[in-house]
Amino acid sequence: MSSPFAERLLEWYAAHARRLPWRGHPDPYAVWVAEIMLQQTRVETVIPYFERWMARFPTLETLAAASQGEVLGAWEGLGYYSRARNLQRAAQIVVTEHSGELPRQAKALRRLPGIGRYTAAAISSTAFGLDEATLDGNIRRVLARVFDIRQPARSPEGERRLWELAAVHLPPGWAADYNQAMMDLGATVCTPRAPDCPRCPLKDLCAACALGVQDQRPVSQAKPPLPHHIVTAAVIQRDGQVLIAQRPPQGLLGGLWEFPGGKVQPGEQLVACLQREIGEELGAAGVIRPLLSSEQTSGVPTAAVARMSLPLLGAIRIVGP
Ligand code: SF4
Repeated sequence: MSSPFAERLLEWYAAHARRLPWRGHPDPYAVWVAEIMLQQTRVETVIPYFERWMARFPTLETLAAASQGEVLGAWEGLGYYSRARNLQRAAQIVVTEHSGELPRQAKALRRLPGIGRYTAAAISSTAFGLDEATLDGNIRRVLARVFDIRQPARSPEGERRLWELAAVHLPPGWAADYNQAMMDLGATVCTPRAPDCPRCPLKDLCAACALGVQDQRPVSQAKPPLPHHIVTAAVIQRDGQVLIAQRPPQGLLGGLWEFPGGKVQPGEQLVACLQREIGEELGAAGVIRPLLSSEQTSGVPTAAVARMSLPLLGAIRIVGP
């Protein structure tokens, strides 16, 4: 027996589901790729990447056999590159340990790199129709508002209650539609700012709406301050060529190519930092001449800074052996 909450959601979804290229896709691999791309990224951004990805790596086996450079190249611009590296590592594990078949159970999926509780449940319900409730940002918001959850949604107690509510209302046999209905409602009606309550199928059931506290739910938790780093980068040229180095495979921007350099240590000057980094990374030394001073870099376009995920305050040319 489904709850009025689930019934209203499913009725609404039948008429208003978004058309997305991975929905109704017969291949669990496609659902998996979409779920990984959708982590931290908006649907509109993901759609063209998903389509290009499926054309380039149409099966789990083609992804497993590709070079890391090809995989990172196809991911370029989506950010959070560890997702792409984990996706390929997981595909290789599925090929070698599961005969190329993606596990169906959420518990088994969670043993693969890059698949956490939310993603495992989303794949298991969407691709295999298993009764798994899940919880992403949209679902969190809908549940926190309808049931007026007053604990911060990301606190252990808030998380526990939200997972419990998602599971309690899940109508057996309908997990895929139920999960996706909440995602769609959160994305199109119960939006973070200015939820469209008059148009919402859950209006009569929604405690936050009745209390007029929609904009205070979900309760957010104070975020730790963003780390701030000063970094240097060297443009090393010889015979018309420029040296770039590959970052270690793990960690921030792992496996990508960059001008050599690194983070300034406390109390360290930019030039000293660059000499140390070049020595450590390349075993080289040379005469360093500033290319941009910190005054000049104050006008560096913010897009360039944001793409690096780090503030770019010094770039230095090395001339020498
Ligand atoms: S009634 Fe408003 S706040 Fe409540 S679920 Fe619907 S859109 Fe969200």
